[in-house]
Amino acid sequence: MNVNDSEKVAGVLRARGHEPAPDAESADFVFINTCAVREKAAQKLDHSLDRLGWLKRRRPELRVGVGGCVAQLDGRAILERAGHVDVLVGTHNLRRVPDLLDQAIEEGAPAVDLDRKADAFAVPAGDIAHGSPVRAYVTAMEGCNHVCSFCVVPRTRGPEVSRPPEQIVAEVESLVRRGYPEVMLLGQTVNAYRHRDVGFADLLARVDAVPGLSRLRFTTSHPEHVDRSLGSALRDLERLCPYLHLPFQSGSDRVLQSMRRGHTRARYLEIIDGLREAVPDLALSSDVIVGYPGETQGEFEDTLAVLETVRFDSLFAFAYSPRPGTAAALAPDDVPAAEKQRRLQVVLDYQQRRQREQHAARVGLTEEVLVDTIDGGGRVSGRTPHFRIVHFDGEEGLLGQLVRVKVTGAGPNALSGQLTQAIH
Ligand code: SAM
Repeated sequence: MNVNDSEKVAGVLRARGHEPAPDAESADFVFINTCAVREKAAQKLDHSLDRLGWLKRRRPELRVGVGGCVAQLDGRAILERAGHVDVLVGTHNLRRVPDLLDQAIEEGAPAVDLDRKADAFAVPAGDIAHGSPVRAYVTAMEGCNHVCSFCVVPRTRGPEVSRPPEQIVAEVESLVRRGYPEVMLLGQTVNAYRHRDVGFADLLARVDAVPGLSRLRFTTSHPEHVDRSLGSALRDLERLCPYLHLPFQSGSDRVLQSMRRGHTRARYLEIIDGLREAVPDLALSSDVIVGYPGETQGEFEDTLAVLETVRFDSLFAFAYSPRPGTAAALAPDDVPAAEKQRRLQVVLDYQQRRQREQHAARVGLTEEVLVDTIDGGGRVSGRTPHFRIVHFDGEEGLLGQLVRVKVTGAGPNALSGQLTQAIH
């Protein structure tokens, strides 16, 4: 979602006649799009601003902008920390960056817009500067109504707002006309999507029916909104890929309750069983947090047990960090940093072993790959429907093509193979 926000900012600047600069050193304007979800991500802003402060002392005409979640969260305090910021914009007004830049230049003072009531989807579809020529992100909904104790996102992005389905379908149609074979629908809790009588599975069906689209994906889902209709959609819709990212965060019921996740470990596993019954080869990925306040060694082992039961195809694991204004930040952050890192490493090592095994089992099979990257040196790579990366020898002209690749090698993070046939 943050990548997509950056694409929107780049797009509206381009539509106003600005051009991308090769690097910050030669740019007239540098815009930093920020993430507040973990402390480390938020700290990156200060490092970047320090660096831009040095640049601006050498080139006072340089303009600096800050936007996104940290901007929304910290507001004008950023201007106090960094007097060289010219544009400050929250999560809901990215389309105003070019106006704010003009205003800052004209008035010689910082231009600020942190209003959360603005229309979050107001960036014209044609203006979005998609970073990939193959996979285009499409906003389905924004915000989050959940109250997870650790998460700052509802404070920064506000409550859920679903976009009208007609707008989403029109955007996908225009992307297909412009040659994009794959779209990924985005939302913080995308499967909570509801616009009047159109639920998430209905939306998937409508987008899946867009002629010319090769692949459809979506992210991120919340267990609370998984129902039978999602399993049926994953089973029945032709272009919808058999892949689901479904965070579970912890395997301990005490921790889950304290996190206010709205599900137990048993309920999560029941959801996974139901989905696998509908789609036996469904690829699954998840998010986990280790070192949540009060997490004991036994509770951490409960998380490992869920990994062992589900055997995810990929995993995003995070060491807990307290975020301002969240309920969990009121509890003592009592798992020592070194212990959090140890638990994180145990999870990552476990997952690497699983992925190595799962990938090794694909050797000898033929995968359908949508080529999305030129690796260089006569190599290209792409993703299988299950989102596995496959590297192989191929021409640059294969970018955006669906091909068949025979898998000959496997590592923990990717497969390698040989091109056998171009599909289209
Ligand atoms: N909306 C999604 C959900 O609720 O499942 C996830 C959104 S969040 C941007 C991505 C992941 O970051 C979360 O699933 C969680 O694992 C992790 N995360 C969020 N807050 C965190 C915190 N305070 N410390 C560590 N990890 C955190």
